[in-house]
Amino acid sequence: MKNPEAQQDVSVSQGIRMMFYVMKPSETAFQTLDEVPDYVRKATPFFISLMLLELVVSWIRKGKPPGGLDDALTSLSAGIMSRLPRLFYRSIELTSYVYIWENYRLISLPWDSPWTWYITFLGVDFGYYWFHRMAHEVNIMWAGHQTHHSSEGYNLSTALRQSVLQIYTSWIFYSPLALFIPPSVYAVHLQFNLLYQFWIHTKVIDNLGPLELILNTPSHHRVHHGRNRYCIDKNFAGTLIIWDRIFGTFEAENEKVVYGLTHPINTFEPFKVQFHHLVNIWTTFWATPGFFNKFSVIFKGPGWSPGKPRLGLIEEIPEVEGKEVPFSSSASQLLKIYVVVQFALMLAFYEETFADTAVLSQVILLLRVCFIILTLTSIGFLLDQRPKAAVLEAFRCLVFLMLCRSGHLKPRISSFSFAFEIFFSICIAFWGVRSVKQLVSEPWR
Ligand SMILES: [Zn+2]
Ligand SMILES: [Zn+2]
Repeated sequence: MKNPEAQQDVSVSQGIRMMFYVMKPSETAFQTLDEVPDYVRKATPFFISLMLLELVVSWIRKGKPPGGLDDALTSLSAGIMSRLPRLFYRSIELTSYVYIWENYRLISLPWDSPWTWYITFLGVDFGYYWFHRMAHEVNIMWAGHQTHHSSEGYNLSTALRQSVLQIYTSWIFYSPLALFIPPSVYAVHLQFNLLYQFWIHTKVIDNLGPLELILNTPSHHRVHHGRNRYCIDKNFAGTLIIWDRIFGTFEAENEKVVYGLTHPINTFEPFKVQFHHLVNIWTTFWATPGFFNKFSVIFKGPGWSPGKPRLGLIEEIPEVEGKEVPFSSSASQLLKIYVVVQFALMLAFYEETFADTAVLSQVILLLRVCFIILTLTSIGFLLDQRPKAAVLEAFRCLVFLMLCRSGHLKPRISSFSFAFEIFFSICIAFWGVRSVKQLVSEPWR
């Protein structure tokens, strides 16, 4: 029997409440996994609205935006890349869970009981704490999670800087719940746990008084994103900070937090943002002598090397002064405007692709995904001012035009087709000329 209170559509009131996990069990209890809405996708307008609100508040208070445009675009790029695999298959966090539930469950808690809802809330948050802690303490897991920490800024866009690789290890920590909690209830909380963590990525909220004792708050999570020595491996909580208080990893915010990785990557390229640490592990693995040492490179902390404790030495974390300037793009203002326009067009295609997944063939889906990845890479090259950026952008615009002409990338509003073709033809000519000029003046680069 279906739950009449649980709806597929999310109202404005529900949308606002779901960003803060303020939902009633009765309105989010579904019998089957297929009935569970894609709350994360439905949250897009609320992500945008809250980011705009943060921008306004920051302008009023400090007279400047909450972070750099280059940094925000890179965070959004990472968020987009992390969601692309879902166009082809259900996430491993759900498939593994359903497999365990169907084959090994011990009991079946009732899907429509408020008790099941609250137990799952605690269970998912507990699983998240341990996943997150291990993602910082086990090098191969850090290779995925470091993406989220690679921003040197701290604002709502940072929350969207998500890893492509992370879900391939996070599912393990939720698996025990599959022994007794129905997949539909788990799928609801997995999404709300993620959504709750959006609003805490901000500097515009200072201290929330007594709420700081129980909830994970902006202040607590700022510490988690810090690269000051006192911030390292602290505050792993998702929704409730109580886990850090219980397991001894809590740290209150005190001296000014400097954000990002202890060794900043200084790039806006999406592939480097996602995978650069895998390359580090690979080179360290082969450079480290002995089988057990090689094993430790993969499974001990990112700061470990032979002779050191499991999590490395805190003295080796570079000291910060609080005056560090985040890495920023040297691109001109005009180029940044161009990049924003191209990013917005790509975002429209991305949204349209997700909306039309059911009616698009696998080949078209793949073409669209390739085009989205190509666009994100090209934008990263332009922001990084890489020597090959002009060639890549000319090639990308040519690909767009060809896909448009062949009907594989038709804009939803067909009257725009002609305008798009003119615009992209101009872009090809502009970037083509720049590529040739570059080749003539610097043929070796
Ligand atoms: Zn983290
Ligand atoms: Zn975070």
